[in-house]
Amino acid sequence: MKNDDKNIHDFDFNLICDYFSSTERQGPGSTAATLDALHKIEPISPSSTIVDLGCGTGASTLLLAEQCNCKVMGIDLFEQFLVKLRHKAAAKGIAIDTLVCSMDNLPFAPASIDVIWCEGAIYNIGIERGLSLWHHLLKDGGYVVFSDATWLTNSLPREVANFWEEAYPAMGNLEQNLALIKSLGYEVIDHFTLDSKCWTDNFYKPQHKAQVEFLARHPNNPTAQELVANQQREADIYNKYGSLYGYVFYIVRKQ
Ligand code: SAH
Repeated sequence: MKNDDKNIHDFDFNLICDYFSSTERQGPGSTAATLDALHKIEPISPSSTIVDLGCGTGASTLLLAEQCNCKVMGIDLFEQFLVKLRHKAAAKGIAIDTLVCSMDNLPFAPASIDVIWCEGAIYNIGIERGLSLWHHLLKDGGYVVFSDATWLTNSLPREVANFWEEAYPAMGNLEQNLALIKSLGYEVIDHFTLDSKCWTDNFYKPQHKAQVEFLARHPNNPTAQELVANQQREADIYNKYGSLYGYVFYIVRKQ
């Protein structure tokens, strides 16, 4: 990659981080959904380690740290998000560790992790790659708890199929994902679909204000305008076709 290319790339990521740093969540979710998923796994002991991969500004990381009396680490590719997370944790007096690292290159010893948490972020490397790479890092009986956009139907109008074919071509349907999870050496403990408010109220609505402020911070910037237009398009697609796909929480256990 040429230096020039890299700079353009870095700049885009800076814009994305800037856009999403101002919202509490960087993906669909809710406190209730995180707690529901947490209650599906066996109680956490104080000697346990939970890593929250692709934690963003840490909506789930903070909740996990509040709920579980154990070591909790938030991991993300972008330091800018982790800075926010550390500020929020300090303000609440919550102890967490943070690490800038890619979820496909984790620096942990084999069989050292009790719970890998990953809300709205596994799509970055795909379920198959993620679950394969993480298997040996988990202790026996360790969990992966993740949410991912999932088709809830097999009959798709072209407009929504085309949109997600571009945005997330590997998006699977529920049956495919459950079969995939089992084939990778995990038992499915439970799964449930997040309610639509996790998208509308908690993800898209807070972006309205964020978009106005973001565009004011980056006047006459076509990349910034395109980013906002893409987010608005995604929200429009959800409003129109949101019954055909959803975020599904998968609670799975290493066999
Ligand atoms: N879990 C958060 C953020 C979800 S958005 C929430 O639910 O609000 C996806 C997150 O994955 C972003 O914070 C992004 O920076 C992060 N990410 C993208 N690629 C990654 C990678 N390869 N490794 C770790 N984090 C990654």
